[in-house]
Amino acid sequence: MSLVACKNPSAARAQLQRWRSSGARIGFVPTMGALHEGHLHLVHRARRENEIVVVSIFVNPLQFDDPRDFERYPRSFENDARLLEGAGASLAFTGTLQEFFPGEGPSTRRIDPGPCAQGLEGALRPGHFEGVATIVERLFAIVEPHHAYFGQKDFQQSLVVRDLARRRGSPPIRVVPTVREAGGLALSSRNVFLSPEERVRALAIYRALRAAHQAFQAGERRPAALSAIMLRELAQQKLEVQYATVRDPEQWSAEEPQHALQHAVALIAVRLGAVRLIDNWVLSSPDGAL
Ligand code: AMP
Repeated sequence: MSLVACKNPSAARAQLQRWRSSGARIGFVPTMGALHEGHLHLVHRARRENEIVVVSIFVNPLQFDDPRDFERYPRSFENDARLLEGAGASLAFTGTLQEFFPGEGPSTRRIDPGPCAQGLEGALRPGHFEGVATIVERLFAIVEPHHAYFGQKDFQQSLVVRDLARRRGSPPIRVVPTVREAGGLALSSRNVFLSPEERVRALAIYRALRAAHQAFQAGERRPAALSAIMLRELAQQKLEVQYATVRDPEQWSAEEPQHALQHAVALIAVRLGAVRLIDNWVLSSPDGAL
């Protein structure tokens, strides 16, 4: 089947209605475009579990706390559509903020992102998760998917979205492991802004996560000790660290827990030149995946 590309949500809704009435299961992958292998991984997983795979491509202004980041975010709908066709997606759609929220003012449209929005990304990027929850809620209402797919790369976001889906009763959320370059750098649309030298320095993030994983697997359970291990690795490349910390993935807390953890995820955010990079690793799982 070739890809149907819709430039607005109403056209997408009409197309989806036709598929839904034929009984097909719909898998949904929300993205901001500038697609890479990480996004395509979500599409492949969705393809295995649904007859129809729908991808939204929308650089959502509501979730950007920095207007410059919004303006320069890479946009490439035509190229994205080609990649999606190759990956076997059935529908790609986009739209404007007005088309997604017709007739609504900025204050009426905000959705509470819930307790997992506290701390880390939520603290550093005010309004970010409200913006995420608001657009994801609207996208779910448009697509009404049988399953929705999110990357572990944005770990805290996956918790916020799971909560949101639980509150509204659907859809089931599938969290897909992070796709990395050969050296371990997590794929991200923003990586295009890294210089070759910055790319090398960024590998310290992966090393820091792996070092924490090794320590955890060897019996280290104290959050502060695990954080210190990560900070040591990051300091070697003089990265500007915003956080290098651990949380209990099953009991999210704004602050780092003080007690020993049986379940733990390590999370890092750094600034490197003009780029902000985030990554994570589930320390209590053998391969870092959730
Ligand atoms: P974005 O376009 O950055 O909003 O990402 C869309 C979806 O792709 C989100 O669920 C991300 O978590 C996911 N994603 C981004 N990068 C990766 C990656 N390297 N591996 C797996 N999923 C990813």
